[in-house]
Amino acid sequence: MKILIYILVLFSFSNFFSPLKKYTKTEMVMGTVLSVTAFHTQGGEKLLNELFQLAESYEQLFSSRREDGVIFGINKNSSGILKDDKISDLINQSLYYAVLTDGAFDPGLYRVISLWDIESKQIIPKIEDIAFAMKESGYKNVIVNGEHLQLLHNAGLDLGAIAKGRIIGLLADFLKEKGCYDFLINAGGDLIASGLYDKKREWNIAIADPYNKNETIGFIKLSDKSIVTSGDYERYFIGDDGKRYHHIIDPVTGYPVDNGLNSVTVISDNPTEADALSTAFFVMGIDRALKLAEKLTGVEAVFIKKDEHDEIQIITTQGIIMKPQTGNGFEFGIK
Ligand code: FAD
Ligand code: MG
Repeated sequence: MKILIYILVLFSFSNFFSPLKKYTKTEMVMGTVLSVTAFHTQGGEKLLNELFQLAESYEQLFSSRREDGVIFGINKNSSGILKDDKISDLINQSLYYAVLTDGAFDPGLYRVISLWDIESKQIIPKIEDIAFAMKESGYKNVIVNGEHLQLLHNAGLDLGAIAKGRIIGLLADFLKEKGCYDFLINAGGDLIASGLYDKKREWNIAIADPYNKNETIGFIKLSDKSIVTSGDYERYFIGDDGKRYHHIIDPVTGYPVDNGLNSVTVISDNPTEADALSTAFFVMGIDRALKLAEKLTGVEAVFIKKDEHDEIQIITTQGIIMKPQTGNGFEFGIK
């Protein structure tokens, strides 16, 4: 017995002292690049393989595009039974953010979003088709009663502006359950920075330059935070009229948001909140978004636009510090 205890103690000490190794994996999931860096003692490859399998299963659960998915079925039948807690929870959260943002974040825009289908069509829909799709849209048409969901007026659900945040949150929970606490998950601009880089320093996160995709506006050091960016510079096309048509729709007009904003980054402890609010703030514009952000606890934001002289303007919530760095944009921080 003594020997067994001795061996167990030795084993746990050797595990404790075994050096952390850096593991990375990148693959396309949810139509975007999912990239994970994790510091773990051993078995990190297997852990990340399992994480990516999990990500694919969540993609199927939350996607409105996959014909084998739950949301696709709900949209087809205008109703559904929400058997999976993860689905009902996310739909309820999306309705919560719709109310909180006075409809700027709207999970009931599926008909308008699929009419635009920015990724593949790249054509401005006819005005009458937009008007028709708008009649079949809006979160007020999404009725949840326990596990019963009903969609009125042929509305459809699209959780594209919130599900990536929820999914990275679930993936972070998975890593922590497996004893891995120091990691960075990045799903196409939705990030969670957990613990530290190599147990030494906070994660250094770049904020992209919306006017030059290969450049950055600056960096922010974070630990145990989510940071999510919504912008008009990744998914868009230029119309015959020379205007930029991107994927964030104004639920009032049915057209891509046109308020001068090019990028909104939100920092929060909660990745689902950061994702929903980054889209909502983009729709709301700076003044309305700042008012709401200042009312919420633990939510900070960085807004990027150009002024009438084509100069870049960066506006932040009060909790953000912004210091210019020579030749390296800005260093952002949380007060
Ligand atoms: P966000 O600002 O977070 O979201 C913008 C997206 O939300 C739009 O693309 C639209 O779908 C929706 N939206 C637009 N306006 C509003 C609004 N006012 N309120 C609420 N929602 C709005 N893309 C593919 O090309 N192929 C795929 O197979 C694919 N599968 C996906 C599966 C899942 C589970 C998810 C979550 C997304 C998938 N995507 C796919 C979508 C893709 O990755 C999106 O670009 C992404 O979800 C949008 O995130 P974002 O961070 O770019 O912008
Ligand atoms: Mg979003």
